[in-house]
Amino acid sequence: TSPLSDRVLRMKESATLKMAQLGREVKAQGHDVISLSLGEPDFDTPVHIKDAAKAALDAGDTKYTPVPGTAELRQAVSDKFKRENGLDYAPAQIVVSTGAKQSLANVAMAMLNEGDEVVILAPYWVSYSAIVKVAGGVPLVVGAGIEDDYKVSAEAIEAAITDKTKFILFSSPCNPTGSVYTKDELAAIATMLGKYPHVYVVADEIYEHINFTGKHASIGTMPEVKDRTITVNGFSKGFAMTGWRLGYIGAPLEIAKACSKLQGQNTSGANSIAQAAGAHALNSSLKPTEDMRAAFEKRRELIIEGLSAIEGLKVNRPQGAFYIFPDVAAFFGKSNGEFTISNSDDLSEYLLMEAHVATVGGSSFGAPTCIRISYAASEEQLTEAVARIKKALEALS
Ligand code: PLP
Repeated sequence: TSPLSDRVLRMKESATLKMAQLGREVKAQGHDVISLSLGEPDFDTPVHIKDAAKAALDAGDTKYTPVPGTAELRQAVSDKFKRENGLDYAPAQIVVSTGAKQSLANVAMAMLNEGDEVVILAPYWVSYSAIVKVAGGVPLVVGAGIEDDYKVSAEAIEAAITDKTKFILFSSPCNPTGSVYTKDELAAIATMLGKYPHVYVVADEIYEHINFTGKHASIGTMPEVKDRTITVNGFSKGFAMTGWRLGYIGAPLEIAKACSKLQGQNTSGANSIAQAAGAHALNSSLKPTEDMRAAFEKRRELIIEGLSAIEGLKVNRPQGAFYIFPDVAAFFGKSNGEFTISNSDDLSEYLLMEAHVATVGGSSFGAPTCIRISYAASEEQLTEAVARIKKALEALS
């Protein structure tokens, strides 16, 4: 018998981390691999945030913090929600965690009983289904294709709602598609949810600052769902702080308290130095974040133009984050003589082996005809990657 629990056995390994590992292996064989597989800004953390961390360290800010976060950071998050998003969460409704990933895991563990359903809008971030399943929940995936810019309608969500639905879960701007739900689209979802008062909303807004459409819209501001929205956010993407591990939620008070209780038995409060730096980041100018956003926008043009010129790739115009999510179904059944492409995971593997470009196949995002390409890389790398992808795809017939 296995020493492992059913819980971990039924869990899938993170596809993005797996691709990153495979990429490292091909690199170790001496190939010049361009890695477009990870969801990580290639920028360094802004200097003023690093300085705040150094100051915290020098000031002896090295002790355990309160489980749901320091008073300073919870206040800064509450203020940020109000100022930037129009969201009303008091500091007591904020829980700071070791990354938004932990925030999401806390919410799932705090809210789901065995068999409870979660409507996940697809394409979705890889970890959503795993997090829901580990907590005993059942993911009900509702998807949209490239012809709808990968955005799921209120009607499609409504069709998946049952008495067992606990919450709907989605990200906007979206990982993996880069799609951004407009205020009107969110309002339509909120209006529909007005008929289902037992359904909560978990809105993952971690890419809010990487939005090329103008103002970010938060579903938690809409009257029908205001009191039952958990807004998830963090520092990894907008402030280039992936390694600092800092995320947070604003939630109805009883849910916030439950997340804090759970976290108190699992990991305790997040890193003290990261929290001091995070509070400083929220209370400071967003100029460095805006500069990063502008750089991503320029790269988006480059990658859209490059990929659109490749026959067979279906490409749309993502409005946020730093991903593009082409539909590659036209290549299924094709071969270069040695390697036959049956699905998008094969295509992603083919691109790694043939073109030495690491991407991620769509199946683990709930989109088996697509691949995810991250453009959080330099313009030179992106130009070279596009040329290599073109050559490799043209070799298929
Ligand atoms: N949510 C989405 C949509 C993400 O893409 C990520 C990171 O890739 C996270 C949450 C988790 O971010 P972190 O745990 O680094 O705060």
